[in-house]
Amino acid sequence: MRLYNKPAHELHDLLAKKEISSVELTKDVLARLDETENKIQAYIDVTRETALQEAEKADKKIAAGEAISYFEGIPGAIKDNICTKGVKTTCASRMLENFVPPYNATVMEKLQAERPVILGKANMDEFAMGGSTENSAFHPTHNPWNADCVPGGSSGGSAAAVAAGSAIWALGSDTGGSIRQPASFCGVVGMKPTYGRVSRYGLVAFASSLDQIGPLTRDVTDCAHLLQTIAGNDKYDSTSSASEVPDYTISLVEDVKGLKIGIPKEFFVKGMDAEVETAVRDAIRKLESLGANVQEISLPHTEYAISVYYLIAPAEAATNLERYDGVSYGARVDGVDVVDMMTKTRSEKFGEEVKRRILIGNYALSAGYYDAYYLKALKVRRLIKEDYDKAFGQVDVIVTPTAPTPAYKIGEMSNDPLKMYLQDIYTVPLNLAGLPGISLPCGYSSQKLPIGLQIIGKPLDEATVLRTAYTYEQSQSFHKEMAEVKA
Ligand code: GLN
Repeated sequence: MRLYNKPAHELHDLLAKKEISSVELTKDVLARLDETENKIQAYIDVTRETALQEAEKADKKIAAGEAISYFEGIPGAIKDNICTKGVKTTCASRMLENFVPPYNATVMEKLQAERPVILGKANMDEFAMGGSTENSAFHPTHNPWNADCVPGGSSGGSAAAVAAGSAIWALGSDTGGSIRQPASFCGVVGMKPTYGRVSRYGLVAFASSLDQIGPLTRDVTDCAHLLQTIAGNDKYDSTSSASEVPDYTISLVEDVKGLKIGIPKEFFVKGMDAEVETAVRDAIRKLESLGANVQEISLPHTEYAISVYYLIAPAEAATNLERYDGVSYGARVDGVDVVDMMTKTRSEKFGEEVKRRILIGNYALSAGYYDAYYLKALKVRRLIKEDYDKAFGQVDVIVTPTAPTPAYKIGEMSNDPLKMYLQDIYTVPLNLAGLPGISLPCGYSSQKLPIGLQIIGKPLDEATVLRTAYTYEQSQSFHKEMAEVKA
């Protein structure tokens, strides 16, 4: 029996009942990885040996009759910008090619308390800058539904691994859509929690006021459990929320009766992809038929979100990436003096897109432009947040597409950064406003590429987002389908 194609909750039951072993499961997922990885290239590093050791440990516990936790013995992947003690964490950059963190990110500590099997580090856009995983310094990742297409990004390796069956679950990070958009492109579930719900300690910083770590899974049930595992206050992250983490499994019920759903008119504009619009409108109708009250709302500052994001994120990135100076962290290219050394290190070890962001960021922050760009962007960010505050006075959740199109061809946008940035229109407002959002599959294009539905919640109300998502998911069967990955 093949096991790679099942969600964690089914595998957990099989393990607990001793119908399968973790070694058997881990070997099956590794076999799937061997069948697909040539084509998909979801991983930067596969930690086979330690994975099998972890699986053996889980099996010993099961054999001893001890209770196992939800992810115990179940294999998953970690995005390569999350620090894993003793295991290389490269951010898909030549700059950190040989960086071995001496400590674990808080999410890793929390996960490891559940003793899952870690299969390895997933590919991504360099420093999480991008939306296609083409910006990885090592290799692009391919979409399991069609290997000519991108898997989305920047958590493209995480999403592709879950979609292909070379991981059962994965962690990603989302600064402007990097969990939700690849989830949408790969037909899996991905959630960006509220800013502060999950600790950022040990997540290599891209834009600190926007970054969040979150789950990528086969279905909403696994998503709720993975969020449960990683959420919570952390003394090492002063921006993490002190509010108590609710029991998210309570959300796994089919109930949207009387739920008020807002549909922002600014998100459904002329010229949007017709297949995306049809799939999303069908999903909204479905939710309505299940008892939700759907109403149109307005988020008037939506049109500024891309401009605001592409000033604030690069500004923070330029600052965060200052530390890669050839001295404190990462690679060094020798030079005749210190300035030459730093110049060579940064010129040679950062990729094109990272350098572009650093230039944009430093420009926006420079004296004379600070007020006109960075400060203005912060003000408009506030207006965007206020749009959502107002909307959430009327509705419980907001439903939109996750991405304006299904996955596109590898190479199609890589020479046109602006076009690529425009793809983030539906995802970046949540990061700017700090709100939780999930993407889950709601249909396919005529080319059989997945389409994602985005559900946005009030701050710290992941519970209602999950309940809405679960109710919709259970009304259809997209979550049961997997990409074939043709050889
Ligand atoms: N695509 C967006 C960007 O390039 C989002 C990236 C992210 O969320 N890490 O910045």
